[in-house]
Amino acid sequence: MTDKVHLGHRARKRFGQNFLNDSNIIDKIVTAIDPKPTDNLVEIGPGLGAITEPVVELSDRLTVVELDRDLAERLIHHPFLGPKLTVHQGDAMKFDFSSLLKGDAKLKIFGNLPYNVSTPLLFHLFEFADQVEHMHFMLQKEVVNRMVAGPGTKAYGRLSVMTQYYCHAIPVIQVPPTCFKPAPKVDSAVVRLIPKDAQQRSAKSTKVLNTVCLEAFNQRRKTLRNSLSNLMTAEQLSDLGIDPSLRAENISLSQFIEIANWIYDNKE
Ligand code: SAM
Repeated sequence: MTDKVHLGHRARKRFGQNFLNDSNIIDKIVTAIDPKPTDNLVEIGPGLGAITEPVVELSDRLTVVELDRDLAERLIHHPFLGPKLTVHQGDAMKFDFSSLLKGDAKLKIFGNLPYNVSTPLLFHLFEFADQVEHMHFMLQKEVVNRMVAGPGTKAYGRLSVMTQYYCHAIPVIQVPPTCFKPAPKVDSAVVRLIPKDAQQRSAKSTKVLNTVCLEAFNQRRKTLRNSLSNLMTAEQLSDLGIDPSLRAENISLSQFIEIANWIYDNKE
């Protein structure tokens, strides 16, 4: 058997399949999630059930979203897991997570995410911030580093600003490639995301905030005066108390929000 076959399933690269195969790391992830029978738990990409099984042992019930039809079928017919799972076969990037809300209990979402789509998937999940209690995701370590980076660092960029706009982001576990089958080429890490209260998220339009970040960081060597010239003038930046000769990497989250809100108020 090659390294690509795990528990009788041939890993599909196009679905970002790298299966966890290390009980010590799995234990640590489950401890971080801390599942309870009263929780409304959702797993993205359960795969062959490496995290699913120990979580269900503690929670008794779990909703999963899995794109791979064969893996979804396998879970539905699993003798022990099947009856305790609600399986949605489909793309998590198109999934309406708010449809899973029951009563007042917010969602607790987790997953060892497919690395090939992790950034768009995170942006999709951020849209449900108000309906989520917390999220735990295994990602490429470099992606986690970008999510938690602050101004003045190389890793600081659009993903840092948008992540920290929606959530408190805390790295919790580092995971080497040897813990997966097949082993990915990169190091991994688990991040805990705790959505901020709606009052703390003061952008008038997240779309405009995202556009400002795109423009500013697309040309990160340029000063704001130049990179944001399509959106506002140097004088208008100065009027907000923001030095137009600074670069995007020196601008804090609250300054990005101020810029975005000014553009929102001043453009139709
Ligand atoms: N949770 C398993 C584990 O830790 O061993 C599998 C993790 S594997 C890195 C990613 C999983 O996400 C695979 O099962 C893959 O089929 C699934 N997947 C890939 N793209 C997806 C998508 N867009 N929506 C839902 N699941 C997806």
